[in-house]
Amino acid sequence: MQIRIGQGYDVHAIADGLPMWLGGIQLPSDKGFVAHSDGDVAIHALCDALLGAAALGDIGLHFPDSSPQWKDADSKGLLRRVVEMLSKEGWKVGNADITIALQAPKLRPYIDEMRSVLAPILGVPVDAVSVKATTTEHLGFVGRGEGCEVWAVVLIEKD
Ligand code: MG
Repeated sequence: MQIRIGQGYDVHAIADGLPMWLGGIQLPSDKGFVAHSDGDVAIHALCDALLGAAALGDIGLHFPDSSPQWKDADSKGLLRRVVEMLSKEGWKVGNADITIALQAPKLRPYIDEMRSVLAPILGVPVDAVSVKATTTEHLGFVGRGEGCEVWAVVLIEKD
């Protein structure tokens, strides 16, 4: 069996009056992420981790923000397409570990829902999807509430 690791990283700015999509769900917030798509920064980092593991480029290559096709796109659809791309090359997902840095809202109540939304798209059991959240103690752009930063790591496997 072949095993590969991939890591992904993404940042989106926060602005008033936008829906806040994160980890595949909409959070109750009067602010959201500035983006061409729905701005789900966690899914974007996850897509890049998967693409990186398979050496298939990055999310900007496959879903350019210059394309009207991806305007306001549901990032879960992008993730499905990425999983399909890997599947065509014989890869399946082993596990995913996501770390979200966001000052507010506090994410603890939403973590399990994110995991249960992401797991079936990845084709893995919920216990193979970890979502962790941290603030940055009011330091930096995350701490000032100006943006959200996400890191994702995945393993992929091929028989
Ligand atoms: Mg992004």
